[in-house]
Amino acid sequence: MALITSQASRSGHATRPATTASGDYRADAPDVVVVGAGFAGLYMLHRLRTLGFSVRAIDAADDVGGTWYWNRYPGARCDITTADYTFSFDPELEKAWTWSEKYAAQPEILRYAQFVADRYDLRRSIQFGTRVDQARWDEAAGRWHLNTSRGETLTPRFCIMATGCLSIPKEPDIPGAGNFKGEVYSTSRWPHERIDFTGKRVAVVGTGSSGIQCIPLIAQQAAHLTVFQRTANFAVPARNGPVAQARLQQLHADRAAYRQAAKFSRAGVPMPINMVYGRYAPPGQRTQLLNQGWESGELIAAYGIFADQALFEDANELVCDFVRDKIRATVADPATAEALCPKDHPFGTKRPCLDSGYYETYNRPNVRLVDLKRTPIGAITATGIDVGGESLPFDAIVFATGFDAMTGALVAVDIGGRDGQTLKHKWAHGPRSYLGLMTAGFPNLFTITGPQSPSAFSNMMVSIEQHVDWIGDCLVHMQQHEASVVEPTETAESGWMQHCDDCAAITLHARTSSWYTGGNVPGKPRGLMPYIGGVDAYRKACDEVVGRDYLGFAFTGPGVVGGRSCNDGVVRRLQPDVMRALEMFAALSLPAFESLPPAGARELMAQLRGRRPPGLPVGATQDGTLPGPGGPLEFRLYRPATPRPHPLVVYFHGGGWVWGGHDSDDPMLHDLCRRSGVAIVSVNYRHAPEARFPCAAADALCAVRWAGEHAHELGGIPGQLAVAGWSAGANLAAVVCHRVRDEGGPRIAGQLLLTPPTDGNMTTRSYIENGGGYGLTSALMRWFWGHYCDPADRLDPRASPLRATSLSNLPPAMVVTCEFDPLRDEGRAYAAALAKAGVAVKELCARGHTHMSPTMVDIVISGEPVRAQMADALRGFFSQTQTG
Ligand SMILES: Cc1cc2nc3c(=O)[nH]c(=O)nc-3n(C[C@H](O)[C@H](O)[C@H](O)COP(=O)(O)OP(=O)(O)OC[C@H]3O[C@@H](n4cnc5c(N)ncnc54)[C@H](O)[C@@H]3O)c2cc1C
Repeated sequence: MALITSQASRSGHATRPATTASGDYRADAPDVVVVGAGFAGLYMLHRLRTLGFSVRAIDAADDVGGTWYWNRYPGARCDITTADYTFSFDPELEKAWTWSEKYAAQPEILRYAQFVADRYDLRRSIQFGTRVDQARWDEAAGRWHLNTSRGETLTPRFCIMATGCLSIPKEPDIPGAGNFKGEVYSTSRWPHERIDFTGKRVAVVGTGSSGIQCIPLIAQQAAHLTVFQRTANFAVPARNGPVAQARLQQLHADRAAYRQAAKFSRAGVPMPINMVYGRYAPPGQRTQLLNQGWESGELIAAYGIFADQALFEDANELVCDFVRDKIRATVADPATAEALCPKDHPFGTKRPCLDSGYYETYNRPNVRLVDLKRTPIGAITATGIDVGGESLPFDAIVFATGFDAMTGALVAVDIGGRDGQTLKHKWAHGPRSYLGLMTAGFPNLFTITGPQSPSAFSNMMVSIEQHVDWIGDCLVHMQQHEASVVEPTETAESGWMQHCDDCAAITLHARTSSWYTGGNVPGKPRGLMPYIGGVDAYRKACDEVVGRDYLGFAFTGPGVVGGRSCNDGVVRRLQPDVMRALEMFAALSLPAFESLPPAGARELMAQLRGRRPPGLPVGATQDGTLPGPGGPLEFRLYRPATPRPHPLVVYFHGGGWVWGGHDSDDPMLHDLCRRSGVAIVSVNYRHAPEARFPCAAADALCAVRWAGEHAHELGGIPGQLAVAGWSAGANLAAVVCHRVRDEGGPRIAGQLLLTPPTDGNMTTRSYIENGGGYGLTSALMRWFWGHYCDPADRLDPRASPLRATSLSNLPPAMVVTCEFDPLRDEGRAYAAALAKAGVAVKELCARGHTHMSPTMVDIVISGEPVRAQMADALRGFFSQTQTG
């Protein structure tokens, strides 16, 4: 089948000779070849020429523009506002061009690309009508050999793939697609001449962005339009018109600041970040925010109606329901409306579309929707389409079937790197790269907006400019250091891949089959391809890599000392949401807790806690007091929604023995109760320095005994009792286990210790490695110990359980440690010591987490697997009790 190719030749592209304005590209033997002359290729070419490199760009098209050269279908326009979808590298260029609309149409965007090419005299360095078919790395020469469709071989030192993320159309995978004898069009290879559908019976196959854009316009012309929909997509109204005054005012007030804000925004467009969580917001606020998002006429605003809509299905479903109601309210025929309502993916996990009269189009008498989920296409015949027992005749079929996105254009070139490895082979199970800029084994080969960079999850202009600048700077760096070859290391690449996977794992995107995940192309490996950590986070990572002497890149060349230089390593080891949480915390510019008196530190902590949502509801919570050795101790009971009785866990809060209360770990305990199905009683204890060691430990022991005796009243199952705690509370839980073992019970089924301090001498390696910058600092830990315990008491096993003479016969344990916690090593040491003493112990080291992050239920989604395993452990303690 060659539908797409036939369209290319129908518009004459493949047969035209190579052309340039002046043709002088032939004169040079370029040091750099840029493949592609869309926006990425144009800016790369300009930048490298400005930096003094000899460079040639090559494009299969006959002119500049890339996407905007090929996609000429009616209604084609951008879906990022043009005030933002524009180059910012030259303020004079910005002054010289004015966009006519909020969302400019394809002809205007193409004119802009041509304007840029003319302004910087770029065409003389571009070879059009030429495809790069093959690229081979010549190790001995340190050059690429590029073979083109014109039979030439170029041997540049650097090859930069500006081949586009959405430039290789996906052939329609429909039986008989090549049989049709009428007019066939592909939105992504639209002819240059005007196509008139007046009086014709037209089929549009596909309802992604291109389909949704062209359908209203084709419907206005055609005698009859039938739309074949495989997947219903969400669309929000574009509300197109003149460029919004508010945006213009912002730009005019301070253009540089606006562009800078775009560079450090989440998606490449400056926009306030909404911190309201859909799952916790009251109904009135939800409605107000949903309406606001709907009225905004901007995709990025619709992505961010709620802070948690990309994270949690329940929050996302609020948006889905809202849009579905809008569709039902717009489309007159209920069956058609229902078919148009997306139900198989969360909002935003497939690219939503901007709608200019799309849903209203289905109210026209000449438009029919065929839902392929209910009635799949039987075949395309010479005269039309057979579907659900009907043969529908057509004069024209328009395929709006999308792209082999992100990797399609890269693997379409037969690229061979070091040791004969091909890119296609390396990426057979999915693309792998370092920063989406380079891939190990393919020296001097760069990709612009490649997989594992923000790319299609961003305003591409911002991402293109960032990549071009980064690559330009790298080449200059190499020149300055007389390096001839650059390549990422396997370590750096694997680290970045892990980070990308971590980012993907906390969103709903990776679970949806879409072009972002390769799900639209049969046989393509699945996995979220663009980097979803945000434009801002990504840029910071790229800048940091440079700042750390090109961390993870190896340079070789005559000027490189020893022939090779490399500061190897991994740029992002924290979980992405943990990093965000730390940044948010740092942005509060709070005083160091240890610089405050305990009362001040407690007050500050209580204020911070007050800002956080309480967590999802449990069956019931109940507050009370129990008698403690120094007076009543407050407790909060969390009961599951299932009928009582439940196994009972006595929990001790964190807070360095200095602050906190029975309710201070509320969100995590809601979560733990919901997940585990056990009842949890969180008991407060006396705090230091007012009540120093061993008061807290004494209170904890008393509370456990009391809970054991009052299990029935608490809704617990007598005899099924475990202990748990976080941080200082985990220390107390561990100590209680020693004491009940030695002092006559009660029997404890298990101990769940989350980041426990177990040794007061504070000399482990993690105190040094993680001493600052990760929330709990070594200095704060010293402050805590100082308030809790006299130095002489610190190594008492009731303060430092690791120091106990025997750890045998203790209850089964789960010890959770966090990679970036000063307490990591003593937690690990305790787990090892328990195991050595014959205690059944499970140790979980939470990769990329800090001391506090697993407890941040609302904002640290990457803690979910940790919390799930903690809940499993609790259940496991009791299943052992029952069976044993
Ligand atoms: C309909 C549509 C609307 C879009 N709207 C937006 C939007 O609103 N906002 C946004 O941010 N992004 C949008 N995009 C994404 C868009 O692709 C980018 O914004 C941007 O135009 C990409 O520029 P580029 O130069 O990287 O790639 P492209 O514009 O795709 O250019 C790549 C060029 O490389 C050439 N090429 C590829 N392989 C070879 C080869 N082997 N040899 C020679 N030449 C080759 C192609 O012919 C093409 O001209 C849209 C995409 C589409 C399809």
